[in-house]
Amino acid sequence: MNIPTDSLCELVIPISYGSTAVIETGKWGFQKPDTNLLTAPCQEACPAGINIPEVLYFISEGRKDEALFSMLMENPFPGACGRACFHPCEANCIRAQYDESVSIQALEKYVSDRASVQIEKIQPIANESAKRIAVVGGGPSGLSCAYFLSLLGHRVTIFEAKREPGGVLRWGVPEYRLPKSILRKEIRRILSLPIEMKTGVRVGRDIPFEDLDHFDAIFLSPGAGLNPSLGIEGEGLKKVWKGGEFLERINSKEKVILGKETLVVGGGNTAIDVARSALRLGSQVTLAYRRTRNEMPAIRDEIHEAEEEGVRFEFLVQPVKIHPGKKKRLAVKFQRMKLGGPDATGRSRALPVKGEFLTLETDGLITAVGERVELAWVPKPFVKNDLIGLNPSPRVFAGGDAVDQPRTIVTAIAAGKKAAISMDLSLRGNSDKALLSRIRAGKKGSLSMASYLSMREGEKWLEPKGVATYQQMNPIYFKASHRVKIRKRSRAKSLKKFSEVNMGLRPEEARLSAQRCFSCGTCNYCYNCYFFCPEGAVSLDPFLKTRTVDFDHCKGCGTCAKACPRAVVEMR
Ligand SMILES: Cc1cc2nc3c(=O)[nH]c(=O)nc-3n(C[C@H](O)[C@H](O)[C@H](O)COP(=O)(O)OP(=O)(O)OC[C@H]3O[C@@H](n4cnc5c(N)ncnc54)[C@H](O)[C@@H]3O)c2cc1C
Repeated sequence: MNIPTDSLCELVIPISYGSTAVIETGKWGFQKPDTNLLTAPCQEACPAGINIPEVLYFISEGRKDEALFSMLMENPFPGACGRACFHPCEANCIRAQYDESVSIQALEKYVSDRASVQIEKIQPIANESAKRIAVVGGGPSGLSCAYFLSLLGHRVTIFEAKREPGGVLRWGVPEYRLPKSILRKEIRRILSLPIEMKTGVRVGRDIPFEDLDHFDAIFLSPGAGLNPSLGIEGEGLKKVWKGGEFLERINSKEKVILGKETLVVGGGNTAIDVARSALRLGSQVTLAYRRTRNEMPAIRDEIHEAEEEGVRFEFLVQPVKIHPGKKKRLAVKFQRMKLGGPDATGRSRALPVKGEFLTLETDGLITAVGERVELAWVPKPFVKNDLIGLNPSPRVFAGGDAVDQPRTIVTAIAAGKKAAISMDLSLRGNSDKALLSRIRAGKKGSLSMASYLSMREGEKWLEPKGVATYQQMNPIYFKASHRVKIRKRSRAKSLKKFSEVNMGLRPEEARLSAQRCFSCGTCNYCYNCYFFCPEGAVSLDPFLKTRTVDFDHCKGCGTCAKACPRAVVEMR
């Protein structure tokens, strides 16, 4: 039948004769597709709350600058974290339940190295009620707090005791893991914001704490810089060093000469860094730890790399005495240990095996048995269990290694961000604690600065409705694939000097790695809903980040929701 199309609207015609572009099939539907934004478990696990699916989407599209900008919204240290973070994101990556987790940390390093600096895009928002805030300590926690406060329009002064900021990242973590040029680039970017940095000023020594009284608020992030002693006989002998001091000398480019053999005592990141640095100075290294490998607090990959490089491990031993050995060497007597029941932290206790000892001879001993907070300058009411309280007075906040929280780079950064948001709220007279839960990325406490800025500026933003699970994904759309093996400098070359070991991803490897992301709970414009919609009712704009449905023509068949690989479309 030939129907005149220009007069269709006036005709009463059987439905089957008209195109659905004309007939409003949307009226037939009793359910409609809705956007079901979910937090990806990787983002939930990242203490800094980086929007990882968004970052990986940008990388897969070759949009490195946007990927970097998205990371910088939540974390001013993507270069440091891309190298030295303990990457809980990967342990929580949903893809691990399918084949292998996505190489998120390597991609973070890739973007931070390859994208342009983007200083001009990182700008503070105008803030007519800007306040003056003091930050004590220019490590990752203090610098992050200053960065976020500055983005929120406040005026910040950092007091840093050392001649250069960066804290442990500058003076502890060695060059072969985190090149100082990368760290300086990140600090330069932070300090391109209106932040005043006063280096060489130790609060409590160069200025009294009371001098900070004229600031509207204070953030305390002095870290844990004291190296405790073993408390055993012989610790004062020559050639017995403390790990923190040893690493600081290396990071200051001082000449450090070790003998043929070095013994390192400890099981944390400092001990591993000391051991691997000693290898690079030409010594043969044995690391002695009182528990077993499983209980070592150091990052797993670091332990593995130390072993690959040639560090020897002696487990279940604890030093009890150091005395001079033959030929100007040291003799270190160890008590043999065994594992007992769990302690308060859940780790197995190390218990002495009665009457069993071991003596090891060495040319030098370096101890790395934890770090303590220097509290002499901190007002007494702020001190709690040998640490600083989180919010010890209405105007004073604290974070990083100096408070009761895991001692990692990313938790230090997250603490700086959380304090900045809490200070901003309290300085603006907003005591609504529930606000913090609205900008949480998941349930584990990481906060989203992007959401906070939107909320503060009165913009609309999509609040995630929960955390994505593997069961919600549609893995039929994903081809099984493996992680790219990250290129490392050869052992022979690595041990010659302190050059970076991790050589990172090539552009094509980065693109393929980013494409492996399921983008759990976040639309990455795969266009499945668009292609499968029988009514052509879906339109997408990846640049405006919009996905719209023409409800006049959506029949509510649910094909788009079924075809969505990542549970973003939900029928209601
Ligand atoms: C050797 C080593 C290796 C590590 N490796 C890793 C790793 O690979 N991955 C990981 O996640 N974590 C690692 N960590 C832990 C991580 O570095 C820390 O958790 C993190 O640096 C803590 O940050 P922060 O800002 O609280 O303290 P810090 O980094 O210690 O910075 C504190 C800053 O405050 C300054 N300061 C102290 N007192 C005063 C004062 N009174 N006035 C002014 N300034 C002051 C200090 O000079 C310092 O610059 C490592 C730690 C060590 C020691």
